Amino acid sequence: KVRVRFAPSPTGPLHIGGVRTALFNYLFAKKHGGDFVLRIEDTDQNRYVEGAEAYIVEALNWCGIPFDEGPTSAPLSAGSKEGSFGPYRQSERKHMYKEYALQLIEKGHAYYAFDTSERLDFHRKDHEEKGKTFIYNWHNRLKLSNSLSLTAKEVQEKLNSGEDYVIRFKSPQDQELVLQDIIRGEIKIDTNILDDKILFKSDGMPTYHLANIVDDHLMEITHVIRGEEWLPSLALHQLLYNAFEWEAPAFAHLPLIMKPVGKGKLSKRDGEKGGFPVFPLSWNESQGYREAGYFPEAVVNFLALLGWNPGTEQELFSLEELIEAFSLERVNKSGARFDPEKTKWYNHQYLQKKSDKELAALFAPIIAVRSSAVETSFDGDYIEKVVSLIKERADFVSDFWELGNYFFEAPTSYNEKAVKKQWKEDTPQLMQKVAEILEATEDFSSETVETHVKAWITDTELSFGKVMGPLRLIIVGELKGPHIFDILALIGKEESMGRIKRALE
Ligand code: GLU
Repeated sequence: KVRVRFAPSPTGPLHIGGVRTALFNYLFAKKHGGDFVLRIEDTDQNRYVEGAEAYIVEALNWCGIPFDEGPTSAPLSAGSKEGSFGPYRQSERKHMYKEYALQLIEKGHAYYAFDTSERLDFHRKDHEEKGKTFIYNWHNRLKLSNSLSLTAKEVQEKLNSGEDYVIRFKSPQDQELVLQDIIRGEIKIDTNILDDKILFKSDGMPTYHLANIVDDHLMEITHVIRGEEWLPSLALHQLLYNAFEWEAPAFAHLPLIMKPVGKGKLSKRDGEKGGFPVFPLSWNESQGYREAGYFPEAVVNFLALLGWNPGTEQELFSLEELIEAFSLERVNKSGARFDPEKTKWYNHQYLQKKSDKELAALFAPIIAVRSSAVETSFDGDYIEKVVSLIKERADFVSDFWELGNYFFEAPTSYNEKAVKKQWKEDTPQLMQKVAEILEATEDFSSETVETHVKAWITDTELSFGKVMGPLRLIIVGELKGPHIFDILALIGKEESMGRIKRALE
């Protein structure tokens, strides 16, 4: 059975790159009828950030990609299940890791090291001065303080006296490792360049590498799908699986998400500079997609296409369609450029797909806040009709007010430039006449009003522009908006005439 995991460290808000990793794991799991596991990698106490875990869970739920298995205690939401592989927080699995580190020592794949940080700093500096980089491995491990260079007795004494130690992986010398990645194919690594990474510390905590491998093994993870930034760790991870004599999962490293322009990966700063979110939900000062008014379906859709392509021209995918179409083989190797304009385009598309009723419900509270009219309760039907007229131009529900405020209150000013161009000497007289036609129109539908006004224009051989421009200015305040007769019909006879009268005062 396919089992994948999303394994974030709760060090802050989830970046959309992290959400994409979660999404690809989710899609892969669902495609193969497998399980999507959430594991919280919180072994680094120094980097732990309060609230980050709850944020991660909330973000996954908001996107509609909930995990099948993961931590369930508060503050987690309902819907998640504690599977049979828990606990799902590494801090709660702390007691499990040491025996595995010791197992590696026993097998000759790891060793104790006692070098103080001052000593290591000294070596680093010393190498630097000679223009070299200090790597703790086969090259110099015998010159350092560890169980490979010391006698068994010396090691035992140090351990007995409670001296600080770490357990390091013994990277092999002179081997060519052949690694497999589903997206990148074969990767060859010369083990001589690897350092002896720390696996375990005397404070009882494993490092990321050890905890990650042990947990993936114990949780029976079949596929590791994660960001490209973890590719450099793949050699060590494969060596760890070999050392434990465990079957390794298949690996897939997703391409980086690149900034909209220039080189490098998308960062929080790019979002701040460009005024677009890089987080799914708001976090402190940073606005999230949810708060910026994006629909989760739109976010999921654009994230899916950051690094994956369906092999067709199709751009709009529901979650079900994504599950159906997704495959790791169609994930690109090269970085995926983030395009904030395209994210808006997606939201625009999803907004058009929503029912007017749903949109009206989202718009109503905005009207209540923005409208200066004392009487601010407009009925749902009315708001729905407004929405149907203006949504075509909107990317977000929050655009509605700007696009349609004149449906809820008369303009308080008229666009000056437009007035200068449109308002002629005979305009008041013409508008007076329009008001009369409106008054005489019994059936105040868009079509009837249009027929009457146009008949008069044609009969009197006026130009349409002479009437339509000023009329729009009076009703809307600007030369914008949908079909003017649709507006008149919707705001109604009384309101339309009232606006004309006030403009002529
Ligand atoms: N805890 C790692 C992270 O924060 C997990 C990396 C992995 O998936 O192996 O991304």
